[in-house]
Amino acid sequence: MSSKGLLPACLTVAAAAVGLFSLQKIYKKKKCCDHDLHHTVEINLPDWAKEELHSHANKIYKTDEEMMQLAIHLSARNVQEETGGPFGSAIFERNLKTNEAKLISVGVNRVVVLSNCTLHGETVAIQLAQSHLQSFTMRGLNCPMENERRFELFTSCEPCAMCLGATFWSGVSRIVCAATKDDAEAIGFDEGPVFKESYEKLEENGIQVTRLVLQKEAAAVLQDYGRRGVIYNSTHESEAVE
Ligand SMILES: [Zn+2]
Repeated sequence: MSSKGLLPACLTVAAAAVGLFSLQKIYKKKKCCDHDLHHTVEINLPDWAKEELHSHANKIYKTDEEMMQLAIHLSARNVQEETGGPFGSAIFERNLKTNEAKLISVGVNRVVVLSNCTLHGETVAIQLAQSHLQSFTMRGLNCPMENERRFELFTSCEPCAMCLGATFWSGVSRIVCAATKDDAEAIGFDEGPVFKESYEKLEENGIQVTRLVLQKEAAAVLQDYGRRGVIYNSTHESEAVE
């Protein structure tokens, strides 16, 4: 090859190398999102939680403690079964005439298992309750019993910033919490911007707030998970799972 032909040949080889490198980059990028665009999102309970819901559906609840025991039991079982994070919730329909309550939905954390940061125990319970009621709110339902009942959310841990917002819009008339924000943050979870004023806003909107019901029992579940589970939105960067 003459020196005149050497330059174009080198350029061709260089161009081919750049092209190959780019293709590799595209391939690598495609590998981590190598699927069709999804237009539906699956929100589900693990099978054991569906069984819990059915087995408790006809029970009459009378005290905060027995309702909270169910939320904490769900949080502990979610850890044991390795079906999500250490958070459980339950929504009850209270009959205001008898003051008795019945379970209408449960929720457990499904963030890591379903690759969805919005699936906390509270949001799962709210979405399944509203799907059951066929209504985007649990208040102002067009129902003859409307003035005789209300819906209450029991959660094994005080809500994060997202779940406070979801509670605000959900139409529940009461939120009852066990473990505290500090308990969750002690094992590395970031609960986001939650302030004293956030709770005041709930109460201004007619949502009664009750805290620290069986707090020690719920905090023990968090501590157990903290020793072995994934902290998916950690306050400590090195532990965060993306
Ligand atoms: Zn949350």
